[in-house]
Amino acid sequence: MKRRDIMEKIETKIIKVNEINPEEELILEGAKFIKEGKLVAFPTETVYGLGANGLNEEAVKEIFVAKGRPQDNPLILHVSSIEDIRPLVKSVSKEAEILMKKFWPGPLTLLFKKSKKVPNIITAGLDTVAIRMPNNPIALGLIKNSGMPIAAPSANTSGKPSPTSADHVIEDLYGKVHMIIDGGSTGVGLESTVLDLTEEIPMILRPGAITLEDLQSIIPNVEEDLSIIKNSNDIVPKSPGQKYRHYAPKADMLVFVGDVENMVMEIKVQAKEFISQEKTVGIMATEETKDRYGQGIIISVGSRKNMETIGHNLFNTIRLFDQKEVDIILAEGVELSYIGTAIMNRLKKASGGNIIKV
Ligand code: AMP
Ligand code: MG
Repeated sequence: MKRRDIMEKIETKIIKVNEINPEEELILEGAKFIKEGKLVAFPTETVYGLGANGLNEEAVKEIFVAKGRPQDNPLILHVSSIEDIRPLVKSVSKEAEILMKKFWPGPLTLLFKKSKKVPNIITAGLDTVAIRMPNNPIALGLIKNSGMPIAAPSANTSGKPSPTSADHVIEDLYGKVHMIIDGGSTGVGLESTVLDLTEEIPMILRPGAITLEDLQSIIPNVEEDLSIIKNSNDIVPKSPGQKYRHYAPKADMLVFVGDVENMVMEIKVQAKEFISQEKTVGIMATEETKDRYGQGIIISVGSRKNMETIGHNLFNTIRLFDQKEVDIILAEGVELSYIGTAIMNRLKKASGGNIIKV
């Protein structure tokens, strides 16, 4: 494909595909685009991905252009079977075999030592490659029928909240990609867990729906990269992508953590103060607390009793606050366990580290 001038608009084709039984002819059309080196945004069970032929350097370059993604942030390759990874990696450890069998297809990305077949642009020059098999019939059909691994970062403009519906993708990438496959809203709503198995200690570089607790039940010595849990700028994350401000709303954001009662009280105090300064205040509440604030634009992000609902709604809720043009978002935090770790990691990034203990 010819290198495109950044200003030149691309004609974006939007197709609606059945998320349970994808229409074969539509999947084949998407696969044809991928084979031609074009960009196709598609749903996965985590968030929407912006896909290109992962072995075609020119096509992969276009992903970085469309997203405005920094070149030093490597991409995940998506496969449709465990066997697909063999040509892409130098070796597969026993742990990796077990984890793939247990969690694939699913929201777990594994790092391997890369083979020569993987272009350097995918790994940003690193000697490891990140690979995942998504659990979504549209994604799997697209990968299988294009006959190659698909490189696919989240289908948003870099820095913005990840897209969990086709509308989010259209908002960010219309006119910048060749096709957007609308397969409804994504299930998990948070990007995959990234696990590094190439070092002595297995390390979670990015938390996701496959949790530390899930992984510990299989590989007991797994640890979390310190930058995930600590709120400090002194710790440089091991995963290049984790060092960027991410998922950010246009508004300022403050995240409150601690006892739920204290959180509600403090958010009320802060809301009152900001409103007195004529600011439009958004409150990211939960089902359990949403009726207690009284003032501000209150949106419940999900239920504390079913934290998966919070993961599912998080990015959409941040985008909703942007649509309502609030000046500041006051958000309730959650506990740092199970999927709560992934939720807090995204809130930390979205707020630029504005975490307040109450
Ligand atoms: P995204 O596809 O936008 O969800 O981002 C992919 C994430 O995986 C980013 O945080 C990357 O930094 C991370 N990643 C991809 N490949 C590697 C790698 N080889 N080593 C470390 N992190 C990686
Ligand atoms: Mg991303």
